[in-house]
Amino acid sequence: MDKKKKKYLYCSNCRCLTDCQVCPECGNENLTEPNETDDIFLAECDPMNSDALSALLKGRNIPFKAEDAGSSEAEDQGSAVRLCLKKFYVPLKSYDDAKNVLFFLTGKN
Ligand SMILES: [Zn+2]
Repeated sequence: MDKKKKKYLYCSNCRCLTDCQVCPECGNENLTEPNETDDIFLAECDPMNSDALSALLKGRNIPFKAEDAGSSEAEDQGSAVRLCLKKFYVPLKSYDDAKNVLFFLTGKN
């Protein structure tokens, strides 16, 4: 996220930040100003990245919530496997730090 004070709005359905007037995820038009205490959606991770991300966030004392986000089919050496996905949320005040951690882990924003 830009260090300059860009105006972000918060969608309480998706718990995500957007710089649009309408949530790009769910189309919610009733976006609000984010509060310091709001949990912001950070990322959805497969089990391998979930463990790595948890460890990195803990290592930097960034509080987070990880919630089950269902599962997805993946293929592992020709056979289908189920991966349990997790969605990560962090408080607004830790969002920038957590983004950096995520970038460190995945190499993308
Ligand atoms: Zn939304």
